Parts: sequence; structure tokens; C-alpha cells
Amino acid sequence: MFSYRHAFHAGSHADILKHLTLLHLVEYLQEKPGALTIVDTHAGAGIYNLEDGFAKVSNEAEGGIFRLQKYIESSTKSDAPLAESIKKYLECIQAENADANLSVYPGSPFILARLLRPQDRLKLFELHPKEIDILRHNIQQLPEAKQIDVYAEDSFARLKGLLPPPSRRGLVLIDPSYEDKQDYRYLETALEEALQRFATGCYAVWYPIISRRESSALPDRMKKIAAADHRSWLHTELRVENAPGERRLQASGMFVINPPWTLEKHLSEALPILVKALGLNDGAKFLLKSFEA
Ligand code: SAM
Repeated sequence: MFSYRHAFHAGSHADILKHLTLLHLVEYLQEKPGALTIVDTHAGAGIYNLEDGFAKVSNEAEGGIFRLQKYIESSTKSDAPLAESIKKYLECIQAENADANLSVYPGSPFILARLLRPQDRLKLFELHPKEIDILRHNIQQLPEAKQIDVYAEDSFARLKGLLPPPSRRGLVLIDPSYEDKQDYRYLETALEEALQRFATGCYAVWYPIISRRESSALPDRMKKIAAADHRSWLHTELRVENAPGERRLQASGMFVINPPWTLEKHLSEALPILVKALGLNDGAKFLLKSFEA
């Protein structure tokens, strides 16, 4: 426990899928003026230096955000259409950087904090003893800090206590490290409990696609959880390569319960571009499925 540091994975293909989806969810939910409560159950450090430390060691951003940026620059020259959600995602990452040479990558807390309107609130959970201090320090620098609560607590246990939010409008990002294989079971229980208390909330779960029984079973488990509450869902996966062994993460997925009706269209435009931009061999592909309750 606690060997996971998200800085190793900042700006990876998995972050791109997660953060691009997240941006669209917030944008849709903010179309209505009512206050929105956003819970980020697994926050990490908030923002990451790509030029130094863990991120530099792993270099995962090279196969992620840097690769996407280069692909988009070259295709913009050839006038190929750029999906709206990719454009917005790149603008959001760029906004944290002084110029086109990206030196930092915002994690979900910074992406979400920047989108807060005065009526919105953000609740961040982080358990890692070092990450929580870095996260608190980073959040204090933000003008939106007063709208943000940071909890050094186990979010799987605490999530239900925050639901339903006072305005009954809420988005929950569940992005565990899956360092402990029990995380799969904790996640399912937390999701069931959350839906019992707040069935109309929007829940977005990220997961790695790895050769572990719990990982392969997770999408079907979440479909069952959504079906038990008569909830709609959207399931998407992005694979950047199919290669023997698991030296690095080759694919990941997002499962969204109560997705906005616009999400499928946005992802159907973005995913083929992400496969072309980030694909490393002909095993690169995407999946996009949904169910309307
Ligand atoms: N959501 C972040 C982003 O997109 O930038 C990345 C989060 S990272 C995948 C997962 C984080 O959850 C790690 O920093 C880990 O320390 C933290 N964590 C693990 N178990 C937790 C728990 N039960 N409650 C809260 N945080 C936890």
C-alpha cells in the first residue's frame, strides 16, 4: 500500500481518456445554473511537473499528452477536423502552462477546480501521507481554494456520507490506484451505496485493463450495479497497443452511470482520433457502448 504515485502516470493515454471524458461531464452538468457538487474520490497530488521527478522517470506523458499534441499540430496543418472535446481538453492542459512546451500536467483536482462556478463545490479525497500534503499545498495556491474541501480519509468509506449533495446535483469521479486488489470490491460497494443514496448522480469510474480477473470482470459488475437501480450507462475503452507482457499499461476504460446524452457523440468523434494519435501498433482500438434505462 502507498507505493502508487500518480506522477509516474501524469499525462499518459489513460489520463487523456479520463480527463477528456471528465471535462465533457462537467461542461454538460454546468449547462444548468443550479449548484453542482463534484467529488473526486482519489485525487492524487493535483498537478504534476513533467520536467522533473517521477513523471520524467516514467516518461508516460511521451506516449500520451506529448504524442497527442504533436499529432494534432501536424493534422491541423493538413486541415483535418479536430474533435471539439479534444480541442477543449488540450486547451485545458495548455492553460496551466506558460507556452506550448508543456512543463506541467494538471490532474483531476486542478482540472475540476478551474471549472468551478461560484455556486459549485469540489470535495477531494487523498489517503497517501505524502500526496495529501502536496495536494493541500497545491490547492491553497488556487483562487478557487475556498470552494474546495480536502479530506485525508478513505473515500470508499466516506463517499456515501456526502450524498446526496444539498443541491441534488452531483458528479463523482472514482479513480482508484487499484494497487490493492481489494479496491475492485471496495469500489463496487461504494458505488452501490452511493446509488442507494443518490440515484440520479453522475458517476464516472476509471479502471485499468490488465490481466487480472477483477479487472476483466469490473465492467460487467458495474453494468449489473447500474441495472439494479435502473440507471443508464456508457462504457468506453481506449487501447493504444496490443503487445505481449505488461511492462506498461496498454489500455484503460471509463464507465459512466447516468451519462449525459451528449457524451456518446463527443466520444465517438474523439476516440478514432485518439486511436490514430496514440496507437503504437495495429492492436490500437476503442470501444464505445451505452445503455439507456
Ligand atoms: N484522480 C487523479 C487524477 O486524475 O489526476 C489520480 C488519482 S490516482 C489514480 C489514485 C490516488 O488515490 C492515489 O494518489 C492514492 O494515494 C489515492 N488513494 C488510494 N486509496 C485511496 C482511498 N481509499 N481513499 C482516498 N484516496 C486513495
